[in-house]
Amino acid sequence: MIGESHLPLTTSHFWWSVIGRGSSDREVRGEIVGRHALGLSKVYASDKVAITVLEDWCKGCEICVEVCTKNCLAMNALGIVEVVDLEACNKCLLCDLLCPDFAICVE
Ligand code: SF4
Ligand code: SF4
Repeated sequence: MIGESHLPLTTSHFWWSVIGRGSSDREVRGEIVGRHALGLSKVYASDKVAITVLEDWCKGCEICVEVCTKNCLAMNALGIVEVVDLEACNKCLLCDLLCPDFAICVE
């Protein structure tokens, strides 16, 4: 489509574009768990946003939780980030940009 960039927006988008997530991921609405070459991932998806957490890469630093002004994210009992309010996400990309381990991707 003219005017639509297909270049990755962030470093994590680059890695995700290299890694790939499987075509079925993008069609899912809700929460799914999958596994690809780099480990366990969880995709939280709605019609307007998809947030993928690469759980095996998340070190539980909570940076993403702290920077999210919409309180979309929280740590679970295992010390891994999870999406608790997907509808509140405004796709600001702060969590994606500031995660030091490229463990979260917002699309
Ligand atoms: S910033 Fe990255 S590594 Fe830290 S808790 Fe969030 S997803 Fe995990
Ligand atoms: S993209 Fe912004 S609003 Fe959405 S979860 Fe990340 S920090 Fe929160």
